[in-house]
Parts: sequence; C-alpha cells; structure tokens
Amino acid sequence: MAASQSERDLPSALCSEFLNFSAKDTASLWLVAADLQQEVYRHLAVYVPRILCQGPSGGSSNSSREEQREELACQLLLLAPLEWLLLGEEPASGLALLQEKNQPSPLCGHVFKVGEPTYSCRECAADPTCVLCMQCFLGSVHKEHRYRMTTSGGGGFCDCGDAEAWKKGPYCQKHTPTASNRDTEEDPVAQLPADMVARGYSIFSIILKYAVDMLTWEQEDQLPAGLEPPDRGDTYYCMLFNDEVHTYEQVIYTLQKAVNCSQKEAVSFATTVDRDGRKSVRYGDFQFCEQAKSVIVRNTSRQSKPLRVEVMHSSVVAHQCFALKALSWLGQVIQYSDGLRRILCQVGLQRGPEGENSSLVDQLMLNDSKMWKGARNIYHQLLMNSLLMDLKYKKIFAIQFAKNYRRLQTDFMEDDHERVVSVTSLSVQLFTVPTMARMLMVEENLMTTIIRTFVDHLRHRDLQGRFQFDRYTAQQAFKFGRVQSLIGDLKYVLISRPSEWTDQLRLKFLEGLEAFLELLKCMQGMDPVVRQVGQHIEMEPEWEAAFTLQMKLTHIISMIQEWCSTDERVLIEAYRKCLSALSHCHSSLPDGEQPISLSLAGHCVETFRYQVSQDKVSIHLPVCRLLAGLHVLLSRTEVASRFPEQLPLGELSPPLLIELPLRCLVLCAQVHAGMWRRNGFSLINQIYYYHNVKCRVEMFDKDIIMLQAGASMMDPNHFLMIVLSRFELFHIFSSADCRKRYREANKDVVQQQNTLIEEMLHLIIMVVCERYVSGVGQVEPFDEVRREIIHQLSIRPMAHSELVKALPENGNKETGLERVIDSVASFKKPGVTGRGLYELRPEWNKHFNLYFHHYSRADQSKAEEAQRKLRRQNGEDTALPPPVPPPLCPLFASLVNLLQCDVLLAVEGAVLQWAVEPSGGGWTESMLQRVLHLVGMALLEEHQQLENSSGDDDITFSYTSKITRPGEAPSTSGSVLALLESLQNAPHLEIHKDMITWILKMVANIKTMRERSSSISTVTISQGQGKEETVRDKDKAERKRKAEMARLRREKIMAQMSEMQKHFINENKELFQQSLEELEASTSAAAENSPPSMELSCVSQVCVGPRRVGGAERRQLVTCILCQEEQEVRGHGRAMVLAAFVQRSTVLSKNRRRNLPNPEHHDPLFMHPDLSLGIHTASCGHIMHATCWQRYFEAVQLKEQRRQQRLRGHTSYDVENGEFLCPLCECLSNTVIPLLPHTHTPDHSVDHPSLEVWLKTTSQQVAVLHSAHRKQIDGVAEGAGPAVPEGFRVDFIPQNPFSSSISEMITTFSMSTYKVGLKVNPNEQDQRVPVLIWSTCAYTIQSIERLLMDEEKPLFGSLPCRQDDCLSSLTRFSSACWTAAPVTTTHTHFIRLLSALVPDSQVENTPCILDIDMFHLLVYCVLSYSSVHSLDQSGRSVVDSAHLHLLHLVTVAHLVQILLTSTTEEVCMDQDSVGSEEEELTCQLHNTLRKHLNSVLPEVTSGWQLFRCIKVGILPFLRAAALFFHYLNSTAPPADLLVTGPGQWEALCSYLSLPSNLLQLYQSQHTLLEPLINRWCCHPGVRQMLQEGGVSVRYPRESNQLIELPEDYSVLINQASSFTCPRSGGDKSRAPTLCLVCGSMLCSQSYCCQTEVDGEDVGACTAHTFTCGAGLGLFLRVRESQVLFVAGKTKGCFYPPPYLDDYGETDQGLKRGNPLHLCVDRYRKIERLWRQHGVAEVIGHAQEANQTLVAIDWQHL
Ligand SMILES: [Zn+2]
Ligand SMILES: [Zn+2]
Ligand SMILES: [Zn+2]
Ligand SMILES: [Zn+2]
Ligand SMILES: [Zn+2]
Ligand SMILES: [Zn+2]
Ligand SMILES: [Zn+2]
Repeated sequence: MAASQSERDLPSALCSEFLNFSAKDTASLWLVAADLQQEVYRHLAVYVPRILCQGPSGGSSNSSREEQREELACQLLLLAPLEWLLLGEEPASGLALLQEKNQPSPLCGHVFKVGEPTYSCRECAADPTCVLCMQCFLGSVHKEHRYRMTTSGGGGFCDCGDAEAWKKGPYCQKHTPTASNRDTEEDPVAQLPADMVARGYSIFSIILKYAVDMLTWEQEDQLPAGLEPPDRGDTYYCMLFNDEVHTYEQVIYTLQKAVNCSQKEAVSFATTVDRDGRKSVRYGDFQFCEQAKSVIVRNTSRQSKPLRVEVMHSSVVAHQCFALKALSWLGQVIQYSDGLRRILCQVGLQRGPEGENSSLVDQLMLNDSKMWKGARNIYHQLLMNSLLMDLKYKKIFAIQFAKNYRRLQTDFMEDDHERVVSVTSLSVQLFTVPTMARMLMVEENLMTTIIRTFVDHLRHRDLQGRFQFDRYTAQQAFKFGRVQSLIGDLKYVLISRPSEWTDQLRLKFLEGLEAFLELLKCMQGMDPVVRQVGQHIEMEPEWEAAFTLQMKLTHIISMIQEWCSTDERVLIEAYRKCLSALSHCHSSLPDGEQPISLSLAGHCVETFRYQVSQDKVSIHLPVCRLLAGLHVLLSRTEVASRFPEQLPLGELSPPLLIELPLRCLVLCAQVHAGMWRRNGFSLINQIYYYHNVKCRVEMFDKDIIMLQAGASMMDPNHFLMIVLSRFELFHIFSSADCRKRYREANKDVVQQQNTLIEEMLHLIIMVVCERYVSGVGQVEPFDEVRREIIHQLSIRPMAHSELVKALPENGNKETGLERVIDSVASFKKPGVTGRGLYELRPEWNKHFNLYFHHYSRADQSKAEEAQRKLRRQNGEDTALPPPVPPPLCPLFASLVNLLQCDVLLAVEGAVLQWAVEPSGGGWTESMLQRVLHLVGMALLEEHQQLENSSGDDDITFSYTSKITRPGEAPSTSGSVLALLESLQNAPHLEIHKDMITWILKMVANIKTMRERSSSISTVTISQGQGKEETVRDKDKAERKRKAEMARLRREKIMAQMSEMQKHFINENKELFQQSLEELEASTSAAAENSPPSMELSCVSQVCVGPRRVGGAERRQLVTCILCQEEQEVRGHGRAMVLAAFVQRSTVLSKNRRRNLPNPEHHDPLFMHPDLSLGIHTASCGHIMHATCWQRYFEAVQLKEQRRQQRLRGHTSYDVENGEFLCPLCECLSNTVIPLLPHTHTPDHSVDHPSLEVWLKTTSQQVAVLHSAHRKQIDGVAEGAGPAVPEGFRVDFIPQNPFSSSISEMITTFSMSTYKVGLKVNPNEQDQRVPVLIWSTCAYTIQSIERLLMDEEKPLFGSLPCRQDDCLSSLTRFSSACWTAAPVTTTHTHFIRLLSALVPDSQVENTPCILDIDMFHLLVYCVLSYSSVHSLDQSGRSVVDSAHLHLLHLVTVAHLVQILLTSTTEEVCMDQDSVGSEEEELTCQLHNTLRKHLNSVLPEVTSGWQLFRCIKVGILPFLRAAALFFHYLNSTAPPADLLVTGPGQWEALCSYLSLPSNLLQLYQSQHTLLEPLINRWCCHPGVRQMLQEGGVSVRYPRESNQLIELPEDYSVLINQASSFTCPRSGGDKSRAPTLCLVCGSMLCSQSYCCQTEVDGEDVGACTAHTFTCGAGLGLFLRVRESQVLFVAGKTKGCFYPPPYLDDYGETDQGLKRGNPLHLCVDRYRKIERLWRQHGVAEVIGHAQEANQTLVAIDWQHL
C-alpha cells in the first residue's frame, strides 16, 4: 500500500493495528452485518480515541507533524472502510468513476475564502449580493459591463449558473449548460446504481447522525450509547472557549498564569481559540485540568462574565474531532456526484421520529449557537456544499429555515459570536432568490415574521409605546447592534419587486405592511425634544440609536413604496392602512384645547395652539413620511384620478397632515436661528442627519412633499398663515406697524427673527419649486438625478466618488449617476496627483437654482459665489433668477397659487418695504434675495402659462396685475412693483441690481405678451431684449473694463505673493507639498539659466590632477535663513551649516539577503560591490549660522520637553535622536553639514611625478609610517628604519585650518553619520568615524549618478539647487574631516586602502578586488591621502598628482574587475572584421588575466564584445568620479556634460584627465602594472569566487526598481487571498501586505507574525523593513488598496496607491469597488521617491500635516 513508507512515523501503539488493518475487509464485514450502525459505532469507539487522543498537542513545534499523522490514521483506519463500503471498490478509482459519470448542475458554488475577490455586475445582477468568483467572472459577459469588485468577508458562494441571480448572462463559459447536461428537473439519484443508492442512504444517515450527535453533545464525561471506549483512562482536556468579550491580551495573560506556559505558547493558544472557537490548553488527569480551569475562571470573572472553560474527557474530545472530519468527508464525497449529494440532502432533511424540527439539519441549526466556531464553520460549509447546491432541497431547507426563523434569531441574539459564524447568516443565500423569497412570504409569512421578531427584540418603550433609546446601556446597545441584521434579511426579501401579484401575495404583503406600520408607529414621535431655556442641558441625550434605526430602515421604506407602486390594489390598500395608522398617531395630539384663529390680508383660519419653541417636538415621523411617499405614488400612477372613490381622500385633514412635518421644519429653522443652543450637540447632530444624504430621502424630502400635498389641498392663504404661525412670525406680518418691533426688541431676538423669516421664505420657495420628484412634478427619475448632479457641479467640478457620496443610493447601492453624468458634464483626466474631475457643461448652467433644497448653507454660498463668478467671466449679468420648473402633476397643480396669494404678496410687500427704508438690523439682504426669487418664480409661472395657452381663458395666473395694485394693509405704501422700481437704483443693493433688472424686464415682457396675446400668438423673451441692447452693451463694456483692471491687480498681487512664498512657506501645510515641488522646479530652472560664472568656453576643463582648474577664486556669500545676515564662507570664519538628513539606505542594494552588520565589529573600510547597505545624506539646501541653528535646536528641544510633560504624545520628529524640522521648509533633518571653502588651485610650478616615481615615494612613505606606528605600539626601535623620503616628517602635526566653530560642526556631522550609519552611540575616538563620512559621500554620489542616468538627464546642471549644494558641501566636508580625527587613524586607513591596489605584505586581511566597490575605494583613497600628504613638507609635490595616480590605478583595477566578472556568451559577430585598437588591447588584457588565472576565465575571441562590456560597465564609475572631483575641486563641468547626447564619453574622459581609450592606461604603464595585475589575480579570493561561480555582482550594476505590479488590481487581491500566514499553519492572513521593494508578501497587523526587534515586539512590516530596507519600507496593503511607508519603529504614513478606477480616483479601503488599474506614472512617482531617498521626508510632512498619523502604532503593522 502507498502508506507503508510513513508507517514508522505513526505512534508505536497504532503500528501493529495499522499493519493488520484492511479497510476492504472491514467494509465487507460491515456489508453483511445485521446492524450496520452498531458495527460502525463499535469500530469508531475503538479507534477514534486511540487516533485522536494523543495527549497534549498544540503550541509545540511538532504539532503539524502530529496533525499529519492523525490525518493519515483517520483516513486509513476510519474513512477508508466507509469509502469501500459506499463505493464497493477501491475508493480512488471508484470516486473517479463517479465523477466521470456525473452530470453536474451548472451552479458554480465556489465558497469564498476571506479576502478573496468577488465580482458583481452593476448592470445584470439581480441584487448586489449576487457575486461571481474570479474564474467565473473572467469567463463571463460581465467583465465587459460596469462591474463592482469587492473582497469577500468569508462565507457565501459564487452565484454563477443561478438563472435567478442574473438578469443577463447567468452562466460563465465553464458553467454554460451543454446539451449533455441533465435537465434540472431530472432526479440525479436515478443515475446511480441501485445498490450504491441503498448503501449511500444507510452510510450517510449513520455518519451524519453520529456527527450531529457528537457536535450537539453536552456532557463532558459521557458518550452516546455504543461509543463508550473499551479502555477508559483518567485523561482529560482543559478546553478554553472563545468569546467576544475578552481581549487577546487578557486571554494571553490569563493563560500564562493558569497553565504556566510561555508568552509565545499563550499567543498561539489565544490565536487558535480566536480562529477555531476552542482549544485545549492542558492535558492530564481530571484534577490537573480542573485546577487550570479554576484559575482561568477566577482571573477573568472580575469585570465581566468569566471565560468559558470546560474539563472534558479525552474520548469526548476525540469523537468531536472526528465528527468534524466526518462532516468534511461527507462534503468531499458529494462533490463527486450530484446523486450522492441529493441522497445526503434527503438524509439531512428527513424528519426524525420526534416529528417537527427533528431532522438532522434542524438539530444542527437549532443548536447552532451552542456550538463552537470551528464546528459551525464546518457544518455551514457542508450545508453550502449540499443543500444550497441542490435547487430542490434548497427550497425545502429554506422553508425549514423560515419556520425556525424566530427561534434562530433569538438564539443569535443571546449568543455573542459574530454573525458570519451564525447559521442566521445563511439568510442571504436563501432570501435573495426572488422566487424563494416570494414563496416564503406567501407560505411562511416571512415578511411579517421578520418584522415581528425585530419589534419583539426592541423592548424598551416609553409610556406611549414608542421606542426609547435614551439612557441606553452598553448591553442594550450591543443587542441593538445584533438585531439590526434582521433589517438586512427584510431587505433581501424585498429587494426585487414582484412582476406579478397573486391574491395570496397581496394578502401577505399587506399583512407584512401592517406589521411594518406597527414598527413605524413605535418610531413616530420617538426621542422628542423640548427647548431648553435658561440652563444648558446637563446630559447630551442619546440620539444615534434612533438614527441608526432610521438609516437602516430607509431602504426598506423605499422598497415598500416600490412594491406598492407596482399594483394598484395594493397601493390603495396600503394608503388606507397608512392613513389609519397616522390618525392613530394623531389621536395623541392635544386637539381638545381651544384652537386659535388667525387673520391676515383679508383671510381667516383656525389652528392649533402650539409652539415649537415651548412644546415637545420630534424629528422622527416615519408614518407621516410613508404616507407622503404613498401620496406621491397615487399621483404618479394616476390611481388618485382613476379610482378617487376607492380612496379615503375625504378623510384627509390637510392642516393635520402638514402639522407634524411643519413642526419638524420649524425646529430646524429655530436651531439655525440659534434658539436651541442650550440643547447641546445631540440636537445639532440630529438636524444634520435629517438633511444628510443617508436619511433625507425618507425624512426631509418627504416632509417637503407632505407640505406640498397639504398645501395643494388647502387655500394657499390658510396654508401660509399656518406656516407663519408655526414659525412664530405671524405677529410680525399681521401687526399694523410691523417695524416697531425693532425699536423694542433686543438684538438677539431681532437676529433670531431675521433668520426665521429667511428660513420661512426659503421653505415657501421649496414647497413651490421642488418638483423633481416623479409624481409631484411631471418628471422621470432620470431628471431627478440629473438635477442633483447639476447642482453639485454648480458648486465646483467634482470627482466621481464625491458625486456618488452626494447622491442617495437605492437598495441596490446604485445612484443612477452613470446614466446621467455624461449628458451634463465633461470629464477631465487626472495628472500624476489629484483625481479625475467632472465639470458641468455650460449649457446646463441655466438650470441652476440658488435655493436648491439639498444645498447646505455652506454649499449654497459656495455655489452662489461660483455661479456669479462664472457669469462675470462670461461677461453676463450676475442675476441668478430661478430656473423654469417642470409642470406639476394634476394632484399637486394648485400649488402654484401659493405664489400669487394675498398673504404671500403681503409678506413680499413688507420685506420690500423694509428694504426701501433699511434701519438698524431689522432687515437682511438674504430676505430680499429670497423675496426676489419668489417674485421671479411667480413671473416665470405666468410667462409659462401665457406661452402654453391658446387663449386668455385657461390663464389662471395674474401675478403681474396683482403686484401693480397698491399694497393692502398692513403694508400701506405702494405696490410690489413700485417698490421694486424704487429699489432698482438703491446704492446699498448693488449686488441685487441685476436681479431686480431681470424682474422688471420680465414684467415688461409679460405685459407685452398679454397685450399682443389677442393678435399675435406668442412673444418670447429674447425679442423683448432688443430695445435694451444699447444700454446693455454699454454696461457690458464698463464691466469688461473693470474686469480687466481687476485681473491686472490680481496678477500683481499673485506675483508679490509667489515672491514671498519663495522666501517663506509656512502658512499652509496642505499646500506645502505642492508648493515645494513648484519651488524646486523654479530653482532648478534658475540654476540652468545662470550657470554660476562658469567659463563654458574653456574646452579642456580638467577636474582632477595637477592641471585641474580650481574654484577658489570665487567668494562664497550665503545668507542665514534665521537671522538673514550675509556671511562669507571661510575656513576661519563663523561656521555656516546646511540642514541635512542622514539615513541608512538599501536602495542600491544588490543583495537583500545579507544581514545587517554587527555595529560593534563591523569594519566599513571596504565597501562590498553589492552595496547592500549605504548611508545617504540629503539636504533641503537651507543655510544657517551654526550658532543660530544651535539656538534654534535648543529651543526645539526645550519645547519638546515641556510638551512631553503636558501630554504624552509623539511628534513627527524624534528630538532625542537629534531630529528637527528645517526652520524654513519644515523638511525633516537630523544633522547639519558645515560649509567649507573651495580648495586651492594647485601650484603649477611643481613637477608632476610619474606614476612610477609616485608609487615609489608613496611606498617609502608608507614604510616609514609602518615603522613609526610599530614603534609607537611596541615602543621598540627596530634598528635602522626604512629610508625616509626627503621632507617627509612622520611626527609633523599639521595645523588645523579651521576655526573652532567650524571644527565643532565637523564633529557634529561626523558623529551623526557615525551614529546613524552604525547604529551606535557617539564615540569620537572610534577609528571608523572618518570612514563613515567618506562612505556617505561616496554612496550619495553613487545614488544620484544612478538617478541621473536612469532619468536620462545630463550629468551636470540638471540637479536641483538643494542637491547641488548638498553634494558640494558634503564632498568638501569629507575631504576635511580627517582634521578632526587622530592623524594616525587616517594614515592606517590609507595604508590599508592602498594595499588593495598595491599589495603590501605588511597589511593583513586585504580583500580581493572582486570584493571591493571601486568607486568607494577611489573616494576613500583620495580623501585619506591628504593626511599622508600633509606630512610631506618638501614642497615638491602636490596632492593633485596623487589624486590623478590614484584615479588611474583604481580605473585599471576596475577594468580588471569588469573583465573578471563579465560573462560574454560567445556570440559570433564580425568575426572577420579587424578589431579596433581598443578591442585588441582588451583582448590582450583578457588573455593576460587568463594566463594569471590558469584559464579559469573562459576564452573569448570577440574583442568587440569584451570592449563593449568594459565601456558600459565602467561608465557609472567614471560618471560618479566626475561628480566627485567636480564637487571636491569646484571645477566647472565641460559643456558637453551639461546636455545629454553624443560625445559624453570623450568629454567625460577628458574631464577626468583620462585617455579616451582607457586601455591605454594599462598599455602605457605595462611593465609597472603587469606585476600588480598578477598579484590581484593571485589573491586566493579571486580564484575561489570565479571557480565556485559565486560572482554575484556584474557591471554595470542594474538599477533597482520597485517590483512589477499587475495591471488589474484584482489579480493582486486574488494573490493575497491565497496567501497564508507563514506562522500559524495555513491560516488566512488578515492584512496581507506586499513589500514593494522585494515583493515579499507579509502577514501584517497581526499577533501571529510579531517579531522581536531590539527588545520590542513589532509587526511583520516593521520587522521586514529592518532586513529589507534598513529600517525603511514601502508596502502595498492589498485589502485596503493603500500604500504604506514605514520608517523606523515609530514613523509611518499612508500614501495614495498607484491604482486608479476609470474615473481617475484611488479607492483607499476598497469601499467603492470600481475596477482598479495600475497607473504607471503614479507608480513611477513612488519609485522615484524611494530612489531619491525621499520617503522619510514624505512621512515627516504627512505627520506634520495630520497629527492623528502620529498616534498610530506603526510598529504593529
Ligand atoms: Zn464561480
Ligand atoms: Zn461559472
Ligand atoms: Zn453584466
Ligand atoms: Zn544666523
Ligand atoms: Zn529647508
Ligand atoms: Zn501571521
Ligand atoms: Zn522587502
């Protein structure tokens, strides 16, 4: 058998059993048994405890090995016999055969893992819960549609193949039914052989029953009959169960105490408990386990209920484990055959002997909340694989589910697990199938059941039976949270409207509606408020619960209305029911009291004695609002006009209908007017949500509709009088001398009343003007959405997501935006930053309504400003007249009469009158503006009527004639028109002038129309404009002139401002990043324009060697940014410093696996060519006096100390580590670089020694130094020392060329670099200090050279100023830093460095040349040489000669290095053509090397290729060297290197004083170099590396890039969903995070993957940054679609991801679900940021701008 190999792994006890066991024989024994169940149980009783009871497992290292053993034993000893029995043959072949014969149903049914991507089609899905798996989606038609992508929360399955789930394209390519597929009606069991069917039934029922019994088993010490183990020992488990009350930390702490385990084990236990729901934490005898239990219970019972722990007998646990395995086995077996699946379904749903609810599935469901998480998950999975995949049994199961609904929900409510692990979460699979939902509604009265269950669980009521949420306890709040899932179920049931109604459905729906009205009645009037006067309220009342409920129900209410709209009979009946519910509510209104009667403008009305400012008022009026909704439907479906007799319209009392909504609106107005200030924030929040897009559809909008409905049924004068009275403004407009009030009243009251008047006028505008609801006005839903969009875009251009947020979503999460948007707006694509924007097309501007009811006050003023500006720009007048509204529906037609009723005219007259004679604060422009708007609306209405009418007869509107009448009481002066005319030229009303002009013009037009209407048919407005043309032209010209003046002034100011900005940017942090970029662009441009006094004409510029041209003649004048004083940079002057940031870097690393060096013993003198860790220095280029900076830094430190005492927060910078922000640009810095003067031009009179001479002298000097050092150490004079070259004085102590302040700064920067580079404490005596400075100089130059190369920028002249300044000060500083270190240190370094080039027997441990980065070597040699040279007092040599020789030597070494590492595959090209001189020389050199290495190198015949290799390989070195010497010696670059293009090579070589044929270097000094090359090659390291193929670095080193990302984001999501946590055995990771540098996927933000770094636990990301990025990391959080930057342990920020949707927006958090695609430009931008070492700076700025980022525990990510 196949398993024979692994048998020795099995525990010995089982071995013998195992060898003798035959599954086949056991199966045949069972086959003939009389009682199969008994036989099987006997078998299980023996084997299950022996296999699955192996003592303490878990936590320890070998657990996965043990698991494998268990798994194997289970399969072979327990499951295999069952399979034999079922199939009657060898299982593997039997199952294969079954699968082959199977004709699968077309359902995909793929069950989603947590985090797996799911796709839904927004065009074809029946509802948003219908989803596809990635495979099916890619093979479906929907991938061409508008789709939505989300990540699964786990559970749920792919709906591919379910015809009901999709309006179109229900099948993917794979699941498309073919002709051979069986008919869905056919019984798949019939396909199976009869005997197998019989065996299937019996085996399935035995196993399923066994599993159900075991999982629902509640005794810890006993087993069901027949399962008792033959030999029962005293072995127990202490089992810990999961709950949602205790935190991870609590559990871990308790476990460490109770079972005495390590922290690590405790974490592992806690993780498993959290995942599986239970875990044994101790194994042993009863006493032992009981003891642990009591400790756990004692420790966790203090604050809350204790953790659940049970001591269970090992055999019980073993059987429960096997029960789970058995369920999984069943799930697997039925995958092979639909027939078997159906058999299992039958077995599962078969009623037991106990009748109702006795099937095995029922038992599972009803015990769901008692089971632990792991058990639930496994049986839910089985239900999904079986019942839900079989259409017939899905229905039967759904009925059982619905029958038990109330009990399941109650169990869930008592339970404390999340909903995803409750069986109730299966509702989404059942209720969203429309036919199923309908069936359950009709047969099981599902709608009513859900609503009643819901209402029953909200038990807190007040005296009137309304919900009471204030003084809600945490426990109740928790329960309230759970009960909300029922609303979700209700939504599933209602989500698709019926296309056909049956009488049964009508009956049950209306019954459900009745139940729903009961629910709404409990909400009507809940959480009432009373205005607080005098004192502020003591406690903010709870308001959120009520609004949560309202928000959750919003879609339900809308859906119920949609259902009603599809059937007239249902609508009529629903209207009746709703009305009677409302009258029930109204019965509590105090109508018994005496009404008050009002009279105004000749009209009288009676109304309630009620004042919002004194009596109770509530925002919650769902019954009224539902009625309003149904009323609109009556109008829309024209039911009202067709069956008026069936409607109880006569019962309606309009004043009663409007009463409550009006109170609510008045409440809002009074809150705005500041009358409710003492009621606190609770009320303000409520008002906010009342208008908010999430609630307004079923709150504010419906209140307006109700007022419209009421007003259309009332005398408009009466309506307005009631409105006036509710606003408590009646007396103002009714009293004869209405303005008297201002003299008496105090200022506050006047202001309040002004606001109230404004609000009231606004309300009237809305009541008349808001017609964009289908049913109120004659519009379609399309128009409604379009109008919303127009008004949003009138504020400013907006991104897609902003628009979506501003629009209400329907139950399908759709706003209708996409259908409309392109007709009104044009799309502007985003750049590298920002997002795509929609801009309103100009032709839609005329639809702008300033009093659009969904504008907040802020929106309104922004929109007004934007619109006026737009009109000015177009040279138009700035009047914002009302747009032409759509016509009203018949039911609402009489609304227009409000506009011309007497009361309104009186109000208009009064306001205009005040405007004519403004006094004190008794009048506001807003009031006037609203009145003008109302007048405009009335005129438009009249104009419309005139235009549309055929004769005078049907014109009911005569506003123009009414406003010409002189004012009636109370306003005694002139007509409205006269008042308007007198206002036209009022100087204090300049902004309203255009509007008044527009009105007067309209009046004139209408007059003309009326006059002509008898003779000529119609006159349009445009004709009327003619006569005013000349006046307007003049006006226009004047306006234009003014505009031009304004523009010039603006430009001047802008110029001044930008000038100021350049000097000082500190005001606006948000704009900071942007302005910094601009600044950078402008400064670099400036640098290009004026190359600092460089003699470009000089062709033969040389930057190194005795012939070089210096820059010392130039004086350097700089200004301190702090004190603004100018200062010259001099060696003995006051020190000037440059703010700088030093950081470790792995950007250039070619080997990320290399461990970080041990800080104590690391020898940095030779940089390995893999550049695995470097030190980078950057600067913002801002210069300060050292003293000014020190004062500043001390102040920062002091401030920080004080701040930390006050509040223990963090800052974006770490003062203790020397960090500070540049005082000018706030750039993160951690040190300063002192500025040093230029080097002197070499003395040309001195001879330049040849290489030979120089080498000889230097060797002598080195020898002298050697002996001197030895003398120092040993104290012994070794006889006669080596010959001392003339003038060389070993004991000469050079004079320090710098002032003390500069020296101090040199130490400061040296220490910073040392500290950061090695991560050690400062130590000035350490020999490595100068090396680290040289290192950062070399590394920074190298990384900048790479950037310039890859961005194809010229080597010189393209760097921004700040980098230029940084490099030059860094290089000059590096050349001087040796003065601060002990001289001998530098000598030793030089000697060792030189020995790499000129092998020296006295120096040990010199690396071979393959292990040295040549550029670093060059820089170190050159910089350390100065110290040796300073001893030469002969005056016969210049330091520059040495530089040149060193350059030549290193270049030759590099050539050899490249040749040794190049791999030239033999490509035969140009074999016959004679090679150039260069090629021949290259071949020669190569052959020399082969000779030295005894042919370890391959033979190469093509010199052409070798030479190409060399040329390409050495270029980066030459370029870096050119930069280095340029900055070191301040030599102007040659013109050819200021541009890109041909001739670079020659220019570079000549600039570096090298022959352009580099091989000549070697050729011309052949005899001198030959022995050196020989010795390089003879280094044992070289041969070893070449032979072992260990060459890891080849030249040129390729630049590092961030990893490739897929174009389609879902590919990433899919990748991440299959990623498992590397630590907790195959668990899904919750926050999979991708390292953008190396491509590792990490398990972030999770306990399981925390690691200790420097004695602190950090998350996977932070830990990774220390190995991959030397403390700095760039990640992509895949589930969140968010880029994460981390630096060190405390700093980090989020950054927009490089993925955009089609609307040019990112989707951080993956909330919107639009398909996302890679934006290459943005990704390159991130890459650039990384390569420029700018990430730390970005983090600094982000944290500075957003303090909440500082508080995040970045190290835990
Ligand atoms: Zn699928
Ligand atoms: Zn499919
Ligand atoms: Zn589709
Ligand atoms: Zn200063
Ligand atoms: Zn700065
Ligand atoms: Zn993990
Ligand atoms: Zn990495």
